Amino acid sequence: MQTRRKSSNVLLNTALQEFYGAADEMGLNERLISILSHSERMMQVSIPVEMDDGSVEVFDGYRVQHSTALGPSKGGIRYDPGVDMDECEALAMLMTWKCSLAGIPYGGGKGGICCDPLTMSRREKERLTRTYAARIEPILGRWSDVPAPDMNTGGQEMVWILDTVSKMRGKLEPAILTGKPVSYWGSMGRNEATGRGVATCGLELMRVLDKNPGSMTAAVQGFGNVGSFTAKTLNDAGVRIVAISDITGSYYSAGGIDIHRAFDTVRANPKKLLEGFEKTGNCEKIDDVLFAECDFLFPCARDGVINSETAGKIRARYIVEGANGPTTPEGEAVLDDAGVMVVPDFLANSGGVIGSYFEWAQNLQGAFWTEEEYNNKLVHIMKGNFRRVWDYSEAKNIKMRRAATMAAIQRVADVSEMRGLFL
Ligand code: NAD
Repeated sequence: MQTRRKSSNVLLNTALQEFYGAADEMGLNERLISILSHSERMMQVSIPVEMDDGSVEVFDGYRVQHSTALGPSKGGIRYDPGVDMDECEALAMLMTWKCSLAGIPYGGGKGGICCDPLTMSRREKERLTRTYAARIEPILGRWSDVPAPDMNTGGQEMVWILDTVSKMRGKLEPAILTGKPVSYWGSMGRNEATGRGVATCGLELMRVLDKNPGSMTAAVQGFGNVGSFTAKTLNDAGVRIVAISDITGSYYSAGGIDIHRAFDTVRANPKKLLEGFEKTGNCEKIDDVLFAECDFLFPCARDGVINSETAGKIRARYIVEGANGPTTPEGEAVLDDAGVMVVPDFLANSGGVIGSYFEWAQNLQGAFWTEEEYNNKLVHIMKGNFRRVWDYSEAKNIKMRRAATMAAIQRVADVSEMRGLFL
């Protein structure tokens, strides 16, 4: 038996140990455990950039392809001072499981540049992005590795990468990455996709529990991309949203928050925040949205918010994770003891990556779908995925997080077995 990997990097070690734990529980053979605990390809590049003052700085860039067993590796590119190879490897592995569970034909990848984009000018970021793109170009491809935006990157960075690779290859390569602006090979519906998927999981949970959305209450933490569209979709389905929040605070109304007015408030604010909403929104400010009296809680802001200190004060009985990693292992243990049910992040927020797959599929065909087509397909897939994990967890009598991890690993393992060792 090959020695099992450990890492001093917390994120990578957690990803590895979770994988080993689930793999052992499902009785995966050691051959596959060894293969899937390693990344297929890890690329490190140096990125010399001429800064605006004429000096040259050299940045470190990375691209990891954890697995291409199911298809091209898929995963974002982030710009952050904390980016390193271990972080990319951990996140690439998580993308493998997320794509597998989502039922889309993608493997997992992740990349990034160790830099502080907030201190860089637009022209410096363009030079950084284009040189990074040129250096990882050999491993990018619509059938090999398809990046997307992540922390501190967006449509502009994707267009710079696409333009650079297309010029190097002498042909347009729109399907080489996703998250492009709608005006340039992007897709209608993508902006709302993650929140729509999160809400769909919440509504499906109500359905299997035989609860009428019209008599349910919910609180949503975060009113950015994921939180705002989660709240809007739930509200449209009749759920009473009693609390919302962002970095300016938490806002509560027992009779229900006016979600349309919340959108208006954010639109009118230069920083896109809910600042002052207690005055215009007919609601009051409370200490923390996490502790609001409600049936369902949707943490859609950031990681680590449900932890050993906060978990015990949560009053909701059901949690649907919109953010990545909002619950720490210690927080989860507290929730378990209290009998709170959690729909895990990599099932609940997979609408984003499913939407990316839709964009790629349209690009490959040179076709455009209507927003309605996009939304219908998304909801259909999300419902099926939720149901699969729910049934699996019921059949095996295990928590949804473990059920989701096991179902995800199983699909990759089955295909890896069919394809054989020479992958
Ligand atoms: P965003 O920047 O658009 O919004 C984040 C929101 O959270 C903002 O309203 C911010 O004010 C609020 N916030 C931050 N810290 C907070 C705190 N401590 N308490 C309350 N509110 C707080 O980001 P987003 O794209 O909505 O992403 C949110 C989470 O969802 C992240 O964990 C991200 O990794 C995850 N995610 C996003 C997508 C996507 O498609 N955008 C897909 C999958 C997962």
